[in-house]
Amino acid sequence: MNINRLKEILADENVPNYVFDQITYAVYKQGVTDFNDITTISKDLRLKIIKELGTSSVNSLLKISEQKGKQAHKVLFQLESGEKIESVSMIYRPNAKSFETICVSSQSGCGLGCSFCATGMIGFKQNLTGEEISDQVLYFISRGDKVHSVTFMGMGEPLSNVDNVIDSINTLTNPKYFGFSPRHINVSTVGIIPGLEKLTEVHPQVNIAYSLHSPYSEQRAKIMKVEKAFPFKDVLNVLDEHIKKTNRRVFLGYLLLKGVNDSKQHAIDLTKLIKSRGKKWYLYHVNLIKYHPGPSPTKYVKPDEKSLKTFINILQKNNISYSVRQSFGEEVFAACGQLYGKYSQKRKTN
Ligand code: SF4
Repeated sequence: MNINRLKEILADENVPNYVFDQITYAVYKQGVTDFNDITTISKDLRLKIIKELGTSSVNSLLKISEQKGKQAHKVLFQLESGEKIESVSMIYRPNAKSFETICVSSQSGCGLGCSFCATGMIGFKQNLTGEEISDQVLYFISRGDKVHSVTFMGMGEPLSNVDNVIDSINTLTNPKYFGFSPRHINVSTVGIIPGLEKLTEVHPQVNIAYSLHSPYSEQRAKIMKVEKAFPFKDVLNVLDEHIKKTNRRVFLGYLLLKGVNDSKQHAIDLTKLIKSRGKKWYLYHVNLIKYHPGPSPTKYVKPDEKSLKTFINILQKNNISYSVRQSFGEEVFAACGQLYGKYSQKRKTN
């Protein structure tokens, strides 16, 4: 919902401040999507809002299609510009309880061209506004979903669009709107240093996941072109400072690519790299991700279980905190690096 435009409309109408609270309560806390259904405000005012903002509170996005898997539900949206993005709702079941996280896009396409990534193949289309980002979460809440956390791991590099990402996090963490704890917001980045510095300054409690994928700069540059502009040794210096200031854990994403970066030596050198980070090295947590081919083929292959086991053993022996990311959503191409956007899909109404 365009909160700033709503404020302007209400100011023009000279209505008391509590009316704004009534509307945001209905939209964000009760999940009302149709302004016609906000009966706590006058009909005249509802019609004025609808004239300016449209009927739906999720008006920056138009749903085109959706695909449901066992644990993942992927939705393709069209932006006002006509470009497409995808958002995914994922259900984690770590124990008897289940938690829903929404994986949001921050850009349509992406210009960074990481060699394993389906989104990178599209190229850069546009940055999303703060509203377009937070409306992806609002869409799922308005369907009645109980959303536990938000992850910036959909299409695009969030820190290449840092101002709008911060704007969306402001809305997501504002108690009057979504009211998420910053600790339930996760931002995954390939390491755009100016954006990383800005985000960690403004929102130090947000979880940072840095996509490392290799302990060797030369190899990382082959996998991810961004290494040339922002070498990991510089990114890790920024993250060390962040850890010193906040005592927060930082996640290191490590995508295992068979025969490329899944060897014993890679695990040994990854361990050494982490242990070289000073007194708080133990706050780096390795998140191992098994590569899975997406809708468009790349040169990479899924790692085998044996090399995964060896890799894990080395991390374990060296007391490196790690997890293997639960891989879900593959059946609807909703897993990491698989968000592609179907550009030929036709526009339908929400
Ligand atoms: S992995 Fe992230 S930064 Fe790299 S191309 Fe894909 S979306 Fe862009």
